[in-house]
Amino acid sequence: MSDPGKTLLVTGGGRGIGAAICRIGAARGYRVAVNYAENDAAAKSLVEDIESAGGTAFAVRGDVGSEPDVLAIFEAIDRKWGRLDALVNNAGVVDRKARIDEMSAARIERMMRINIVGSLLCAREAVKRMSTRHGGQGGAIVNLSSIAATLGGSGEYVDYAASKGAINAFTIGLSKEVATEGIRVNAVSPGIIDTEIHASGGQPHRVEAMREFVPMKRAGTAEEIAHAVLWFLSDEASYATGSVMNVSGGR
Ligand code: NAP
Repeated sequence: MSDPGKTLLVTGGGRGIGAAICRIGAARGYRVAVNYAENDAAAKSLVEDIESAGGTAFAVRGDVGSEPDVLAIFEAIDRKWGRLDALVNNAGVVDRKARIDEMSAARIERMMRINIVGSLLCAREAVKRMSTRHGGQGGAIVNLSSIAATLGGSGEYVDYAASKGAINAFTIGLSKEVATEGIRVNAVSPGIIDTEIHASGGQPHRVEAMREFVPMKRAGTAEEIAHAVLWFLSDEASYATGSVMNVSGGR
């Protein structure tokens, strides 16, 4: 199905799951704002790919954990398109494998700032634009959680798991807050997905190592997560709100 002319912001859209959401979203007719943190080349190349396939996209750099950056990201979309129909809170980070007694306050604060505060700030700005309470036309928000929220991340990253637990609670609470304002809010909770996030946390072979713990005995692809996200954004999911859906190969 397509959503011609609708606008979509994907945070952390330059690489990995976010990039797959941008590509598939653009192919379905969304105009896509590709937010990213640092990797200009990846975001630029993605926008070029989308445009050469006939889609519409632009790249907008900014740290979702910084309020001035978040305001600037949304203002860039206001200037360019003057409307927002969908937000995917996808930007997220992990950190080095560590126990709680090895974690610095700075590490924990960075994790919470990007994974939680970033998602809440972006949702705030999206609600201001999409809610019928504020004169908007409604819309949809999808948050990227993780099955770590229910498994706990013990011995690896309980801080990351806790940040995704907060995302689940936020998804449920926000969905009820804006349910009569034309906005649906859902979350997709991936299992182990083959992206560069594992190498960024110092575990480049994590996908291979975790395979045996997945009932389907394989990692998922970014595209398999993107399809679930785009279903939640679409009118096919018109009665779904406050849902947290595992897409995890059965784990
Ligand atoms: P990834 O491959 O590491 O890509 C992360 C993207 O987020 C990059 O585009 C990066 O920008 C951007 N980003 C990082 N920090 C940011 C910030 N502060 N502000 C804005 N953008 C930022 O990650 P992924 O594996 O696709 O993960 C995407 C989401 O899925 C995350 O929320 C993650 O927690 C969740 N998830 C992933 C898995 C998995 O196994 N991969 C499992 C469960 C949940 P640059 O390109 O500029 O660096």
